[in-house]
Amino acid sequence: MISLQNSLTLLPADGATQLTSTFIDTYQDLCRSSRDGVENYPPSIALPALFDLVLSAKYVERMVADGGWIYCAGSELDEHPSLYFPFLKTCPRCSVKRGIKPSAKSNKPGSDAIGQMAADTTILILSEVARRIAPDAKIGKSTVRQGDIDAVIYDRDILALVEIKSSPLVVYPLEIRLTKPMTEVREGELVFKRDHSMATALISESNLSLYIPHIDLRIPLNHYTPDNWPYTPLTEFISNTQNLATILLAWKQLYELYINSRQRTKRKSVDSRRWIMCGCGSSVDDSKNAPGMERTDDIKKGTYQVLKFGTYYKEKCPRRRIRAVLASNFLPEHGYASYLAEVQDVIWTKDKYSVSLPGDIGFDNIVAFEADSIFNLYDALLCLTRSIYRDADLYRLLNLTRLIGEMSDE
Ligand SMILES: [Zn+2]
Repeated sequence: MISLQNSLTLLPADGATQLTSTFIDTYQDLCRSSRDGVENYPPSIALPALFDLVLSAKYVERMVADGGWIYCAGSELDEHPSLYFPFLKTCPRCSVKRGIKPSAKSNKPGSDAIGQMAADTTILILSEVARRIAPDAKIGKSTVRQGDIDAVIYDRDILALVEIKSSPLVVYPLEIRLTKPMTEVREGELVFKRDHSMATALISESNLSLYIPHIDLRIPLNHYTPDNWPYTPLTEFISNTQNLATILLAWKQLYELYINSRQRTKRKSVDSRRWIMCGCGSSVDDSKNAPGMERTDDIKKGTYQVLKFGTYYKEKCPRRRIRAVLASNFLPEHGYASYLAEVQDVIWTKDKYSVSLPGDIGFDNIVAFEADSIFNLYDALLCLTRSIYRDADLYRLLNLTRLIGEMSDE
């Protein structure tokens, strides 16, 4: 425990913090200003949408380069020629709008970096929500690499050990709109550049946008600068309630598509919006990149981890103040019935805690254990889309839906 405490840090305040804080402020304004806002965009939509936006910002901050762009002529769509900086292996515009999947090079960060960024983003969002609904609570990040514990949530009464398994539903690509088609020399002839060929762009001199193809939204990010880009222009954009509502709508559409995607329809038509979603398969993105804990490996590893928190820490605390939490941006939807439904309410104890009942009164078929030696496997599955709370203290401390409940009291 001591070494755990020494390894904890609060996340440093940076551009992502400002983006997250402004997003939640604007979201609260949106909900205050219209009843529709609350009904259409509950926290279970707004918070995971925020997760994907912050993670998109972290991807582009880390990866944006002069190389790695794909040229899209756009003539079939009657649109401007553009360059795209994709994070999946296809052209974001043509896959979503035309249903074709020209191959492209993904500019995704390495998987270690993705895991770290996704965990940081989860901690950041939980921290900013806690700041508003549970000001006494603190959330610390463990700095031990390969350590047991990703984060802790604590207040005066409890200390929750947190394992994080987060992964985005969608990461938005970058776009540069061109005023005219590009050209190249091919076999001694000056011709238009081949559609979907690789291209380079000077990012410090081009107008970059974050591109959300299925609703045709372009979020202006101006030129690349080493100074707090893309957070400054992105924060400015989402500080407008109407802009924020548009981003929430775009995310909600994809979420609903995702939820419904396993339902077998009679006609086998594929909704081409799926080609912008992580883990969509079919050579565009490996299905192991499914959102949140949807990858069953993550449920399995996460479940071992909370069992370890329980047996190595929780059980050892005589005052029973430690909790074990599995956190994610996304509660498994497709895997829920097969992997979680029958496991989420498991409690456990050990033989050594069994106690004898007074004999000779017919308790043959009952085994008794000390009440404070029975533990939840998960004290909470704390997910931005939907949480399962098994512990009253954690529910009191960090029920994410209170983000709206608190406001309607004002
Ligand atoms: Zn294209």
